[in-house]
Amino acid sequence: MTIHIENLHKKFGKNQVLKGVDLTITEGHIYAILGPNGSGKTTLIKSILGMVIPDKGQISILDRPIKKDWKYRKHINYLPQIANFPPNIKVRELIHMITDLRNSPSAKKELIERFGLEPFLNKKLSTLSGGTKQKVNIVLTFMFNSPLIILDEPTTGLDPRALIYLKELIQAEKAQGKTILITSHIMQFVQEMADEILYLLEGEIYFKGSIAKLLEDTQQKNFEHAIAAITTTKSHA
Ligand code: ADP
Repeated sequence: MTIHIENLHKKFGKNQVLKGVDLTITEGHIYAILGPNGSGKTTLIKSILGMVIPDKGQISILDRPIKKDWKYRKHINYLPQIANFPPNIKVRELIHMITDLRNSPSAKKELIERFGLEPFLNKKLSTLSGGTKQKVNIVLTFMFNSPLIILDEPTTGLDPRALIYLKELIQAEKAQGKTILITSHIMQFVQEMADEILYLLEGEIYFKGSIAKLLEDTQQKNFEHAIAAITTTKSHA
């Protein structure tokens, strides 16, 4: 699913967060959205989801502007950064509720097994550890088949085994030609997963390209240093 973003602007009060973002995202690739805290990553993602209304500019998905046309949202699987689950319902109930809401086929059984969630199905969400909550979050995101997958800090709290499963899941979705957008502070995860880096700075896409290109542009030996050095390098967006 291709996304075209043109001249996107958004300000909150006097704080001009997005200042003309131009971006094309194509299917079958994994994109990592990076940038310093407060650079507008979440604002950009929420604009794509229709949760933030831009002041200027346009986002088109499947060649249609998304403004006032919310039907495209059913083509998106979104993993929010902080899953604000209702505390007093059970894991099983939440999964059923979301399945009913989406009204589309789901692959929940396999995912529940894979992430070892069976023992937790009858537990209330408020009693779960952070990592287990994140596993529930992942199951709710990946149980539907959508062409666009947006993951906000997907690795939060995961144990090594769950992290491996998550990476396998993402790669399997990519192999099916899905478009995947990820934000993450874990540079090793980004390096392993991302085909393209989108680096947001001062309201614009400051760098777009492969990790190899980033290393070349910044003349750094490794990815972590390249990201740290990116702001001191001339723009290559
Ligand atoms: P990032 O995800 O890159 O850390 P955000 O997109 O969350 O950045 O935030 C960018 C800036 O916009 C921050 O200064 C933040 O305080 C501000 N901001 C984000 N959402 C709102 C909002 N709903 N109201 C006011 N300011 C906001």
